[in-house]
Amino acid sequence: MISTIMNATPTMLDHQNTNKRLQDPIWAEVRAQFPILDQQVNGRQLVYLDNAATTQKPKRVIDAISTYYQEYNANIHRGLHSLAERATAAYEDTREAVRAYINAKEAAEVIFTRGTTEGINLVAQAWGRANLNPGDEVLISGMEHHSNIVPWQMICQERGAKLKVIAVTDLGELDMASFYDQITEWTKMVAVVHVSNALGTINPVAEIVQAAKKVGAYTLVDGAQSTAHLEIDVQALDVDFFAFSSHKLYGPTGIGVLYGKRTVLDAMPPYQGGGEMIKEVSFEGTTYNELPYKFEAGTPNIADTVALLEAINFVNELGKPAMHAYEQSLLTYGTEQLNTIDGLRIIGQAANKISVLSFAIDGIHPQDLGILLDTYGIAVRTGHHCTQPLMKRLGLPGTTRASLAIYNTTSEVDLLVTGLRKAVKMLR
Ligand code: PLP
Repeated sequence: MISTIMNATPTMLDHQNTNKRLQDPIWAEVRAQFPILDQQVNGRQLVYLDNAATTQKPKRVIDAISTYYQEYNANIHRGLHSLAERATAAYEDTREAVRAYINAKEAAEVIFTRGTTEGINLVAQAWGRANLNPGDEVLISGMEHHSNIVPWQMICQERGAKLKVIAVTDLGELDMASFYDQITEWTKMVAVVHVSNALGTINPVAEIVQAAKKVGAYTLVDGAQSTAHLEIDVQALDVDFFAFSSHKLYGPTGIGVLYGKRTVLDAMPPYQGGGEMIKEVSFEGTTYNELPYKFEAGTPNIADTVALLEAINFVNELGKPAMHAYEQSLLTYGTEQLNTIDGLRIIGQAANKISVLSFAIDGIHPQDLGILLDTYGIAVRTGHHCTQPLMKRLGLPGTTRASLAIYNTTSEVDLLVTGLRKAVKMLR
């Protein structure tokens, strides 16, 4: 039933129809799956617009965590008893669901991590230490999250390699001339963000991967902000590494995924040593386990991995194309409405963007705005969004960011706009 209502075409999604659809009782059923949304904050109905930081979780995800602990909590892979077998099967079911979700060739290419940050650190440390040498270059972009900057800075410093940066245009797009200028035969890794968390820009990652391959460079895509919104096909993209976090995909915190091509992962040394990642240990030496276990040292986060399956099922049942179409209609509506506010400037006006409304208002500090909106029950994020170099490039101390998810409505956008109008009156 839900998939029927979500199966809307973009043409159905003009404002009038969007409003009509949002009043539909079946639509209400999608939103009602998120218990946290039904609450008052500071005496007002909560308007949650901080989804790029983390999405809320449907009840089925919350229930999956509790069912795991109530019914089959056990350590995985090593136990022969029934609970251990059930927990192992559930854990591996999620791996298979992730494989299908991103269209990896095999489940062994799906490594569970704590999140995007850990995935990128794994690559920088394990791949970087084995592959980067003095004179080599790592190319990232000027709109990276700190988690796709600092790990590369650290390993470049250690290995004597050079970190280079693709420029960003005033509209908040990658300057592709700068990319082609800077990619050279010395480039060993190109690591770029798929969708900017600060601006919503969708980067041309397929083109970037292809150009990187021509010079023999490896590639990593930071999918933290794209995985909940866009179709992901790592084989079609032909990328070497793709990292994302469950908690931005309606799943729990503390669990994420690093996809890596088997050939690349096989050739890499392990990241951490310990249980699970070994085949045999003696004091003379250790042989390492097969993929993916070679990169999963220690007892993993079983409960949250098991619950991630429910998040993936939730998205799959709604259907990404329909979700995307709906979210785009909200973005268009939000952009139009925000533009009616005097002195407001949308930051990030890329031709290709999703789900993020970042803005600055003349004479008002984002932090003051965020605090005031919270008193109206509206949750937005303010500041540099872990993209300090990007903010510096744009000449801003930070922005106010409203980021959208599938349960947001045009009425919530209206409440944001009303709140902003009031705030502007008070703060100017
Ligand atoms: N990359 C991007 C683009 C992000 O938006 C974020 C989180 O906001 C991250 C990486 C880091 O994700 P996590 O904190 O889940 O590891």
